[in-house]
This record gives sequence, C-alpha cells and structure tokens, in this order.
Amino acid sequence: MALTHNLGFPRIGVKRELKKALEAYWAGQSTEAQLLETGRQLREQHWAIQQAAGNAFVTVGDFAWYDHILEWSTTLGIVPPRFRHPRNAPVDLDTLFRMARGRAPVGEPAAACEMTKWFDTNYHYIVPELAADQTFFLARASLFDQVAEAQALGHKVKPVIPGLLTYLRLSKGESFSSAEDERKLALVPQLVQVYRQVLARLAEQGVQWVQVDEPALVLDLPAAWQEAYRQVYAELATTPVSILLATYFGDVADNTDLLASLPVGGVHFDLVRGPQQLARVLPAWPADRVLSAGVISGRDVWRTDLDQAAALLAPVQEQLGERLWLAPASSLLHVPVDLAEETQLDDEIKSWLSFAVQKLDELRLLAATLNGTVSAAQDEALARQRIALAERKVSQRIHNPAVAARVAGEASVARERSPFAERISKQREALGLPDFPTTTIGSFPQTPEIRKIRRDWKAGTLSDAKYEEAIRDEIREVVKFQEEAGLDVLVHGEPERNDMVEYFGELLAGFAFTQNGWVQSYGSRCVKPPIIYGDVARLIPMTVEWTAFAQSLTDKPMKGMLTGPVTVLQWSFVREDQPRQATCLQLALALRDEVQDLEKAGIRVIQIDEPAFREGLPLRKADWQAYLDWAVDCFRVSTSGVQDTTQIHTHMCYSEFNDIIESIAAMDADVITIETSRSNMELLEAFERFNYPNDIGPGVYDIHSPNVPDREWMIQLMNKAASRLDRKQLWVNPDCGLKTRQWPETRSALIEMVHAAQALRAAV
Ligand code: GLN
Ligand code: ZN
Repeated sequence: MALTHNLGFPRIGVKRELKKALEAYWAGQSTEAQLLETGRQLREQHWAIQQAAGNAFVTVGDFAWYDHILEWSTTLGIVPPRFRHPRNAPVDLDTLFRMARGRAPVGEPAAACEMTKWFDTNYHYIVPELAADQTFFLARASLFDQVAEAQALGHKVKPVIPGLLTYLRLSKGESFSSAEDERKLALVPQLVQVYRQVLARLAEQGVQWVQVDEPALVLDLPAAWQEAYRQVYAELATTPVSILLATYFGDVADNTDLLASLPVGGVHFDLVRGPQQLARVLPAWPADRVLSAGVISGRDVWRTDLDQAAALLAPVQEQLGERLWLAPASSLLHVPVDLAEETQLDDEIKSWLSFAVQKLDELRLLAATLNGTVSAAQDEALARQRIALAERKVSQRIHNPAVAARVAGEASVARERSPFAERISKQREALGLPDFPTTTIGSFPQTPEIRKIRRDWKAGTLSDAKYEEAIRDEIREVVKFQEEAGLDVLVHGEPERNDMVEYFGELLAGFAFTQNGWVQSYGSRCVKPPIIYGDVARLIPMTVEWTAFAQSLTDKPMKGMLTGPVTVLQWSFVREDQPRQATCLQLALALRDEVQDLEKAGIRVIQIDEPAFREGLPLRKADWQAYLDWAVDCFRVSTSGVQDTTQIHTHMCYSEFNDIIESIAAMDADVITIETSRSNMELLEAFERFNYPNDIGPGVYDIHSPNVPDREWMIQLMNKAASRLDRKQLWVNPDCGLKTRQWPETRSALIEMVHAAQALRAAV
C-alpha cells in the first residue's frame, strides 16, 4: 500500500490568523502568550487537516513565526553580532523578530537581515548571515517542542528541517563575496555535528522519519558542492533516524547519480515540474529505499488529472510496493489554504480549482486508486473530478476563438521599430524635453481617503459618478503639483489602482479573483494572486480615459502607465494547460491594443512596468535564454505598434542586470528607469560595460524611506552616472512608485529632485 504524506502546510491560517496575531504582538497590543497560543491553535488545525486526509504522518517544522529558514538559523544559534545576542545563549522570539524586521517589542533595534526570494517562488526567506568564525549550537527547542506537541495530540510525526547544504548554499558569508561561495563549505564539518545532534534528539522523541529539504539539488551545483553532499549524507546516515531527502521545484537532472549514491532512507522527487526524471531514476532504484512521488502541484491552484497520475505511478508501485510514497510535489506553502472559503467564485471555475486542503484530498483519492481501496464515496468524488476536468478542456470560458485567431496571426505582428537613434531624436523634438529630463515611476501617495473611495465604490456605497469625480479630483491635484514642481514628464498618479496586476486583471477576460486566496509573501505579508484561467482578451480600454483626462489638464507630456505582460504573468496563478509563454503572448497582445489606444488618444509617452522581468528566470541557467527570448518578444509585441515619436518607457526594480543586460537591451524601450540609489549606482556597471544605447533613468532616491533626499547627494549620484554613461542618455527620477509614501515628504523630495536636475543642466 502506497502511503501519503505532505511536505508542508501553509502556516498563515485560512483567515490570516497568524498575520493578525503577529501584527498585534509587534504593535504591543497583545502578549507573547497570546501569540504563542495562536500559533499552537494553527498547528493543531493544520495537523488535524493532514490527519483527516489520511496522511501517514503529520508534518512538523513547517510552522514559522516569520520564515522557516529564520527558524532554522535561530535553532542553530546563528545570530549576527549587531543584534547583540549573548553568545551561546538561547535565542528568544524577540531576537528572531529583530532579525526579521529590525525591531521587536523587547530588545534594541538593529538593521534587519536581508530577505530574498525562495527559489522561483514569491515567498521570501531571511538570508542567513554566517561569520567566518561562526559556531553552531542548539539555541532553540521549538522544533522538539512542536514534535512533542503533535505527539501529545496523538499524531505520528514526520519532522521537516532544511537540508544542510541547501541552507548553506542560500546563506551569505560575512567575510566573503558570493563569488567565493566555496568557502562556505569550510563550515560543513561543524554544521554536520549539530545536525547529528538534532537527528539524535528527534530519534529520542520516537521519530522514525525526518524530511530533510534539499531543493538545491535542482540547481546547477559546482563539483565541490556535489562532493559535499556525499560527505554530509554519509555522516548523517549513521544517525538513528531515516532521512527522506526532499527535492522539489525541478528535475534533479545532472545530480541524479549523486542522489542515487547518497545513503538515505528515501528521496522525494517533484514529478510535476520534472516528470521525466522518473524514467531516469527508477531502473536503478535500490531495493531498500523509499521513493516519494510528488504528483500534485504545490505551485498552482488546479485540480490534478488523477487518472494520468495513477497511470504514471502504477508501474512504480509494481516495482516498489510499499516503498512508493505519495505527496504533493512541494510544500503547499505557496498555495491558498481552502477553496471552501470561496463563496463568490463562479461554480464552474471553482470546480477546476484545488487549494491546500483540496490537494490533500486529491492525494488521498490517488492513493485509494493505486491501492485499489476506492470506497463508493471516493468513486463518486473521482467521477466528479473527471467530469470537471473534461468540461474544463472544452469550456467556452477558457477558449475564446477571437484570441485563438489573433494568436494564430501573431507572426505578422510588428516587433521592430526604427533604429533607436532615429526615434530618440524625433521624440526629443516632439516632446521638447531638456537634458536630464525629470519624471516619476507612476504612483503618487495612496492616502487613506483614496483607499476609502475605491473601497466604497467597490462595495456599491459610492456611485459611479461620485467615484469618478473623486478620482478626477485626485488626478487634478497630482498634475497640479507636478506642474508646480517643474517635472518634465508627468503621470496621473494611479489613484484608481489598488494593485498593479489586479487592476488590469479585473478588466481583462480570462482572470478570476478569490476572496481569501492568501499566500504568504514574507513574514506577516500575504498576497492574493489573480487566477488566469482562460484566454486573455481586452474587453474595453483600461487606462485611456484616466490618462487622457490627466493629459487634458496640462501641456506637458502625460505618461500612460501599464503593467507589462511578464509581470502580470509572474504575479498570478497561471493556467497549466498551455505553456506560460502562450499566456504571456495573449497578455502582450491585449496590452498592445491598450498602447495603441493611448497613442490614438494623444498620449506621447507610455510606460510598461516590468518589475518581475528578472524573477521569471528559470532555476537552471541552461533554460534562461529560452525564457528571455519569449519574455523580450512579448514586451516588444506590446510596445512595437507605435509611431517613432511615441516614447516607450519601462521600469524595473529589485533587479540585477549584469547577466541579462543583452535581453534588457533587446527589449528596446526608449527609456528604462531602474532602482539604483541604494546600491550607489553600482547597478549601472552592467549598462556601462555593455555600452547600453538607449535612455536610462537610474533612481536617485530610495522611495522605501520617508527621508527627504538631499539635493547635493542626488547631484553627486547623477554625476557618478554621467561618468559611466553619456549625459544625453540620462533621466532623473525616483527609484520606484510613490504609493507607500506620504504627501509632505513626497512634495519635498520631488522639488529637491527637480532642483538637482536643474543644477545638472546648468553645470555643462
Ligand atoms: N508604476 C508602478 C508604481 O509606480 C510601478 C510599481 C513597481 O515597480 N513595483 O507604483
Ligand atoms: Zn519599481
């Protein structure tokens, strides 16, 4: 009989209980005891769900107060010195929070640890900081306490911990650069000892299986790291527990042989992202080893074709019998908790969806199918699932013949514009721009009043007419201020947008929105990604009215603001019944129409934001170029239908450009604005080295801080930029949108910025 288990459950709570409890505690509105109690209740609920779904164990160790990697760092006693934590003392919760956020109810504030994206997900982990003389010791007992907690509730427990080498690979060394990554391996012998202690202690608690997460095995690994895997797992093999080594988010590819050679109790494979690896690993699978098959996606919200999964696994079960385990492909951390909470979702669309709770049900149905134990009720559930999936395939909600026809003709859609040099001189003349033109990235402060206006309108308590007038008033203010401040290319301020993806999704066909489909992004912050379920089509112009109204208020050029196809794709749950690039192309064609309508309405500058362009990169370098090619192509499909005199901007933040600069240049935007102020213009190096030809606006101040930037400092930054690039190429703008800022500092900052640009122009 194949058993089922789970790699991890979303910790935030179906109603975001953990978020609320954390924020109340941080704000001093509740006690630590109250916070701890919320955590305990959530774990109890989540274990009960796993038990009810028939999982052979409940997973313990997936819960985290902020992030599971930070839980592990504190468990291993890794606290950077600036937090002034006494060496060798146990780490408390407030210290953990100070590491995560810089502050906590108790303890001195200090600069928070860096946060970065977990593989190719939108989840962020806290980057471990290792000192060269780092020592490790068991500094927190929360894992062991939670194991005991689950056992006391009568559960059989499978703890999960981050694998030693994945943990190390994702950490940063204080005294060496990332290029000197190999030096981290010097810490392995010491770390192995602590891991041995952890495993021994779990064994004492009666634990049999420990899930050790090593997703780094789906990355490109240098030889030294592959060798380290051999050493580490040879040493851990002698502890009295069985290790289930979990890989996910991709195919282990060239690490297949390495993995087969490791003396572990079992290995988990992601057969959703890497179904082809099964044929590679199965023939030589050792007789005594468990193979955990991840066949239910932990990264999307779609129901699984269980017949197909059963067909894939039937021969595996034949070969392995009880040594075949079934699981979701990865942790369910990246999907919403429970579809049952969605009472307003269309029934047909709902029948295609599966959130964490439903995914565990699907797993149980799969196990019953393979084990030949399908009950009457399960048989009915399987039949329902079959019907839903068959209907989905032919549903008119998904398949739009007009979109199909348009996509079929995509080859004839222009991707080329005239050479940049020709375009830019026509644009400069038409727009009448000075050197060092000034602009902003789009949004202006989103005041509580603006949010309330949008909320009331959506709730139906504010009439369309009143809503429109209120938004127009806001646009008037924003435009008036920009004129007074002397900015060159103005924006309307985006007051009608709650979110840069959601706004467009709501106006496009093919998108659905949930009420409670929250997914943790970092700490207490959650996002509710839209679901792209069908062919994407533009139903009506989405931004033309607001932008044209804003333009009517001024003689200066008004910049139209759109979210780019790659970013919409990246921040949504995307349909899995066609390649991502096919969905992206549909988005690009819809945006192309919007770009052209803006131009027709007299808008001469149009910005297409692509902040998520870089984060779409695949995990393996070998797959990068294919992605970059279609991502660039989609951007060009959106932007290439306009006249030479129409200026196309793009904006990217949180990006490294060094290794993708060629593709950035291939996007061929007339102007790119980027985030550079925090790195002191270092990011410009890539543009300099590449001899980047088009215009560029390196952000001159950090919009994440309320501080008003100093004029001289901005001038000095721009001079630094001018020493690397031609001054004719340069624009002056903030780092990113201003929506999170307040008006007073925004006013002062932009006025200072315009003065800085004036000084730069004067100093020829
Ligand atoms: N135009 C958007 C804004 O200004 C861009 C946001 C972003 O880059 N994340 O808010
Ligand atoms: Zn930005």
